[in-house]
Amino acid sequence: MANSLKTFAIRALWALKIPYLPEVFRAVVKGPYTVDFPFGETVDTGAYRGAAVWDEDVCIGCGACAEVCPADAIAMEDDIESSPPMRRFKLRYDKCIFCGHCHYNCPPEDGIYQTTNWDLATYDRAESYTTVEKELLLCDRCGGVVGAKDHIKWVAKRLGPKAYANPGLALTVEGGLVSAPQPAGTAEGRANIMRVLCPHCRRVVVFEEIT
Ligand code: SF4
Ligand code: SF4
Repeated sequence: MANSLKTFAIRALWALKIPYLPEVFRAVVKGPYTVDFPFGETVDTGAYRGAAVWDEDVCIGCGACAEVCPADAIAMEDDIESSPPMRRFKLRYDKCIFCGHCHYNCPPEDGIYQTTNWDLATYDRAESYTTVEKELLLCDRCGGVVGAKDHIKWVAKRLGPKAYANPGLALTVEGGLVSAPQPAGTAEGRANIMRVLCPHCRRVVVFEEIT
């Protein structure tokens, strides 16, 4: 009987929210924990994983961020019809999960980075995105995509003297990214060696040269 009375008393206290009364008094005196978002002032701890943005001057257009994004939030499109041909990236914040993998896997490290901007609310999710674009380098032989020009330059710079082992990169090191002019009617093979070629055409040209 004594135990049941005790249990009843405890349940009654909880039902009346009496244990919460100290919190109620604290909130009355100091104000609530919550903020009046979006009207009141919010607290920026500086430790948010917020919106990722591109640094156009650092990004080399390699596409690694689009490859590794687990949420498929970054789209990459090569437009070889535009003048000049361009590689375009679009990051949709309504798909982004703010994991930071795009930043962690960016070869030049800060081509894309996360800001602390977390306030991305919008009435139209189609407007919630950011973009960057890079000029493309096309194959002299087939017109296919070799890569973004800044990417090729970045690779050549990283390789240093070793870049001369690849004719396309050697042209890059020499400031060109422009093929040696070929006389009309030049046959495939040796005459095509010093040209900017995609990997497929490079194989074909080298094969023709050695056979
Ligand atoms: S350089 Fe970095 S940000 Fe630019 S495309 Fe490559 S991975 Fe993405
Ligand atoms: S933060 Fe994560 S989800 Fe968002 S774009 Fe980068 S890789 Fe994709």
